[in-house]
Amino acid sequence: MSKVLIVEDERAIVEILKFNLSREGYETLEALDGEAGLQLARTADPDLILLDVMLPKLDGFSICRQLREGGISTPIIMLTAREEENDKVFGLEAGADDYITKPFSMRELMARVKANIRRRTLDSAEGPAPSQETPSTGLVLDPDGFAARKNGVLVELTQKEFDLLSFLMAAPDKVFTREELLDKVWNYDYYGDMRTVDVTVRRLREKIEDDPGKPAHILTKRGAGYYFVL
Ligand code: CA
Repeated sequence: MSKVLIVEDERAIVEILKFNLSREGYETLEALDGEAGLQLARTADPDLILLDVMLPKLDGFSICRQLREGGISTPIIMLTAREEENDKVFGLEAGADDYITKPFSMRELMARVKANIRRRTLDSAEGPAPSQETPSTGLVLDPDGFAARKNGVLVELTQKEFDLLSFLMAAPDKVFTREELLDKVWNYDYYGDMRTVDVTVRRLREKIEDDPGKPAHILTKRGAGYYFVL
């Protein structure tokens, strides 16, 4: 049974999330403040974290950043307020895989939870993939640990960074539109926000490019999308 950690200080939202997640067969854990949330995220090994932004003691962005800095790659969906447009980008930059704006429809939220957990399950069920070393870049995917190795140096990736990089690397030089990437990598063909793709690309470049401002591997095709170059 997949385990979802809910970090949210509004009791009513926690209750409705618990109700709907259990009905869909998920086990739930809850934390009503940021410190408790960070603690549970580290110790309870959840399969997915629903993370509110405004929390007592420690905010959602800080939790997200601390988890990623500690090498924890659990999928994180930020719960952001609709009026706080910047929160979406801040959350993704802090290492979240996705966000959903409040007030959200339960149907949309459950679809996102499923999409993120499904990918994780598929990834781990595939087991160690054959080495995908690309000698010209020295960039190797490490499917077990949501990481890559660049010239032998381990680069920790979040799940979505890993998914996006492996997807692009599988078809070098092929240009994918943001819509295609949202569909194939995030499993959404609806509610798509292109900034999700842009911010994840930016994060990836910061990790794998020598000069993220002049990327050599993940390139932008102006007006079209992104492509990978060996
Ligand atoms: Ca809150």
